[in-house]
Amino acid sequence: GDLLGLDNLVANTTYLKAQQIDRNELRKRRLSLTLPKLKKTSALQAAEGEMYESLCEQQPIGSKLFQQFLLTSNDQYAAAAEFLDELSKWSFAEDEKREKAKQTILAKFCQSQSTGFLSYFTEEDAETCKDLSDSNFDEVILDQLREATREFLKGRPFSEYLKSQFFYRFLQWKEYERQKITDKYFYEFRTLGKGGFGEVCAVQVKHTGQMYACKKLDKRRLKKKGGERMALVEKQILEKVNSLFIVNLAYAYNSRHHLCLVMDLMTGGDLRFHIYDLGKRGIRMECVVYYTAQITSGLLHLHNMGIVYRDMKPENVLLDGKGQCRLSDLGLAVELSKGTIICQKAGTTGYMAPEVLKQEYYRYSVDWWSLGCSIYEMVAARLPFRDFREKVQNDEVTRRTLEDECKFEHKSFDAPTKDIISRFLKKRVARRFGCDDPRSHEFFNSINFHRLEAGLLEAPWVPKPNVVYAKDADEFKDNSDIKDVTFDTKDEKFFREFSTGAVSMQWQKEMIDSGVFDELNNPGHTEGIIS
Ligand code: ADP
Ligand code: MG
Ligand code: MG
Repeated sequence: GDLLGLDNLVANTTYLKAQQIDRNELRKRRLSLTLPKLKKTSALQAAEGEMYESLCEQQPIGSKLFQQFLLTSNDQYAAAAEFLDELSKWSFAEDEKREKAKQTILAKFCQSQSTGFLSYFTEEDAETCKDLSDSNFDEVILDQLREATREFLKGRPFSEYLKSQFFYRFLQWKEYERQKITDKYFYEFRTLGKGGFGEVCAVQVKHTGQMYACKKLDKRRLKKKGGERMALVEKQILEKVNSLFIVNLAYAYNSRHHLCLVMDLMTGGDLRFHIYDLGKRGIRMECVVYYTAQITSGLLHLHNMGIVYRDMKPENVLLDGKGQCRLSDLGLAVELSKGTIICQKAGTTGYMAPEVLKQEYYRYSVDWWSLGCSIYEMVAARLPFRDFREKVQNDEVTRRTLEDECKFEHKSFDAPTKDIISRFLKKRVARRFGCDDPRSHEFFNSINFHRLEAGLLEAPWVPKPNVVYAKDADEFKDNSDIKDVTFDTKDEKFFREFSTGAVSMQWQKEMIDSGVFDELNNPGHTEGIIS
């Protein structure tokens, strides 16, 4: 009724306002924040078995502190750090800016008389440097110099770093990262959607102001329906992936009634909503190509990790505030390496590949089939084997999928689009596209994947900041069927296994992006903490 309408309005307003939180308010919230002092044992634990790559390159805070160490130690270390930085700038530069980036590198680092000359280069490296004329200044040579630089850094600089104040600081951050997460860590906002085991709502980390989506799985419902294994698999896969094109997990914790997965907040709505619910049917071609490119990169990322997604469809592709998309809902995903039986029928009707429907053994091919169906749907606002809102039995969709040829009647299909869809919709796995790399298909001619995969290609369409791209919540939630569920020690053990707290990569990014890293790292602020 009207009251519900008012509730929804208030919920939307506070949700939108939270996303625009100002710096002063945040600063007040974290006045009391300090880095923890170190206990000897925890410091040892954090460093144990960790390698240069993880400590100095992959972990965002680790990489920052190692940089700071290099830049403040001596000229040689600083030059090495700057060289790597310039190399990456060159590598990701837009075409028209590459030439300038290249000249900078040549002048600064590659001439033995220049101040930044990299003195750790072997004679061979130095020769290569001298030979660097415009024509052979390419990825291969630079890779060689990049590797030489990394080899150098892994040696003495790294071992000195491990004994420095900077590394001590890193260990403090690791200690902080290990804090126990409860629902007091967040403010909670409106519901964004409903899932099989509970709702997904927007949350905000109190100290950083970072917004996330929190998928709350009802413990009693999980137990009643035997969903615990699936929830754990989803969580374990999510925490392993770290991609711009997949919703990443930032925290896993449990509250009194829920297991909670805290993920990237996607404020732009899902692609199904954009195909059918925004007045005009379908998505314009420029966006279709852009989304498909990001989805393709996301799928390749999963496949490279041995993961089959199995639920590729527009509804599971979510847009963020900048109009970039990510794959979500990894509840059906499965890791091949774990020897899982994989002829199990899983997926959504209309998107399932022939080999799934026939319950044959399958691998990554099924995701490319579903991507073919999804591209078709983005363009034509219907599925290849099922018309929009067509009342048709699943059996008939299955029959058509196995027997019929895909037709392209909609006027928006151009030749490259038809071609790429047809290649994805080959009924025989061996002939299907994708099992090799689809990124070079002419459908993607306008996409620079190198820049796309670094997050540098802007979206052709950006969601409006003052619109909530989610359906309003409806009132009544029936909980009567799960009232009688109780938990034993085995359940409690499972809840603890699930609740691993902050996920390093995401948490460290959050600390940096929100400015907390800089605030707590500035010497004035941290005086008395570092011993
Ligand atoms: P289930 O696995 O139970 O289907 P989902 O993961 O699909 O649950 O989430 C349910 C709904 O919540 C989605 O359809 C979507 O509307 C919303 N949702 C899920 N994840 C996010 C997110 N990261 N950002 C915004 N909304 C989300
Ligand atoms: Mg879902
Ligand atoms: Mg799911």
